[in-house]
Amino acid sequence: MIAADLKIAQERLQDLLDAAKVVVPFTGAGISTECGIPDFRSPGGLWTKNQPIPFDAFLSSQEMRDEAWRRRFAMEEHFSAARPGRGHLALASLYRASKVPAVITQNIDNLHHASGFEADDVVELHGNTTYAHCLDCARRYELAWVKERFEAQGHAPDCTACGGLIKTATISFGQSMPLAAMRRSEELTAACDLFIAIGSSLVVWPAAGFPLMAKHNGAHLVIINREPTEFDEIADLVARQDIGTVLAPFIAH
Ligand SMILES: [Zn+2]
Repeated sequence: MIAADLKIAQERLQDLLDAAKVVVPFTGAGISTECGIPDFRSPGGLWTKNQPIPFDAFLSSQEMRDEAWRRRFAMEEHFSAARPGRGHLALASLYRASKVPAVITQNIDNLHHASGFEADDVVELHGNTTYAHCLDCARRYELAWVKERFEAQGHAPDCTACGGLIKTATISFGQSMPLAAMRRSEELTAACDLFIAIGSSLVVWPAAGFPLMAKHNGAHLVIINREPTEFDEIADLVARQDIGTVLAPFIAH
């Protein structure tokens, strides 16, 4: 059902949460917009102005690596200032109450961690942009270090341990999906009896397969998103109101 009324949406969500044993949230950009993180894919978003740099271009060209890093540094004021929003806090409350074992996210902004989830319980399908790593030996690098080196030498630095390329810990276009995260997402989806998709247009595959998988497994499906999605028809509850507003009553105080 599509809940046109905010109150009805919240009551129905409360009923579904009360009835559920294992709740798995799946989050997209919409949960972070109230935190000042722009939705890259949205019309007018960064990716419609700046074409994303594909993974093979990053690998093959110092120029592209430098451009990728310049863009990342330009975004730093958004990412470093962002704090968890009401949606993040509501999910963290359900996590602390042992209702939610882990969250699956398409977001790269680290805000689920910041809201209180253990790192192991944030399944990041697209990685994390708040730190970097070496593509060869996986050594971790902080962004401040990369920026300092970039500014000192005029181009993106390589790994000091092995000479490999340093990239934000995100999954770029053309880069293979992280297998462990995909597997964990499937396990969580199979184990839940309530799947809540929040702030995702549910169009990016394979991530978009999870709501469908949950429904096929007999779980209830809730979709909270400003825009319609192609799974609205099979959902047990669809709320198209503002995400933070819908989830605010579920924050434990
Ligand atoms: Zn390395």
